[in-house]
Amino acid sequence: MTILVFGLLGLIIGSFLNVIVLRKGARPITGRSSCMSCGYTLHWYDLIPIVSWLALRGRCRKCGSCVSIQYPLVEASTAILFALLAPISIIGFSLPFPIDILFVLDYLAIVAFLVAIAAYDFLHTIIPDGWAYSFGALAFVSQLLTPLPIDFPWMQFFLAGPIAASPLFFLWLVSGGRWMGLGDAKLSLGIGWLLGPIVGLEAVMFSFILGTVILVPLMLAERAITHMRGFSVAVRGLTMKSEVPFGPFLILSCLIFWFAQLYGVQLPLPF
Ligand SMILES: [Zn+2]
Repeated sequence: MTILVFGLLGLIIGSFLNVIVLRKGARPITGRSSCMSCGYTLHWYDLIPIVSWLALRGRCRKCGSCVSIQYPLVEASTAILFALLAPISIIGFSLPFPIDILFVLDYLAIVAFLVAIAAYDFLHTIIPDGWAYSFGALAFVSQLLTPLPIDFPWMQFFLAGPIAASPLFFLWLVSGGRWMGLGDAKLSLGIGWLLGPIVGLEAVMFSFILGTVILVPLMLAERAITHMRGFSVAVRGLTMKSEVPFGPFLILSCLIFWFAQLYGVQLPLPF
């Protein structure tokens, strides 16, 4: 039951995240959504998460132009991640009021920021500073909301963010920002605070493996894939030299390690 409620909430939040990601810096957040091509004002039945996109097979009701697969993807990922947090929230609810509410809200907000950052970086190859720092702050707070042992390693905790961010910061520094944006380093601050220094570093390292495993075949199959509808814009012109958003890989890796930690799953690490 809780899982269903969290999943539905995820769909709604995911739909809201789409609007934020698309309109940030371009259009005011309020106001009706419309088709990017013909300006057709979307009605409520065009805005049902996932369902509308599937029903119209990813096309505009009026002009038939492609509607990005980003919409259902962001909605589905938020819903799945929220649903995955439902069992964890039950643990959170054993905490005293109002810590329990803050605990759950903090975790949900972390997921929302991660999904939004991944989608935004994917679209614009840049990570908004405010979003990266907000995630960092939420990750920092998430540790403080759980009951802390008397001998809590405060030093290690404060340093976890900078430690996890150090590899990417170093890459940014030596390459003058060509290999890696500073935004990725800022994002990994939060990864460190969320996962701790050791696991945080592992997650950052693992994102390189993820990036390689996912990107290299994509680059090789570029021509074949660019003709796939919806996906075309995402990978068009992707070559070894093109600027690849690294945020989504960092975030995917962070989520894998975080949920493994939350569920107590031992990851079979290659290192
Ligand atoms: Zn249209």
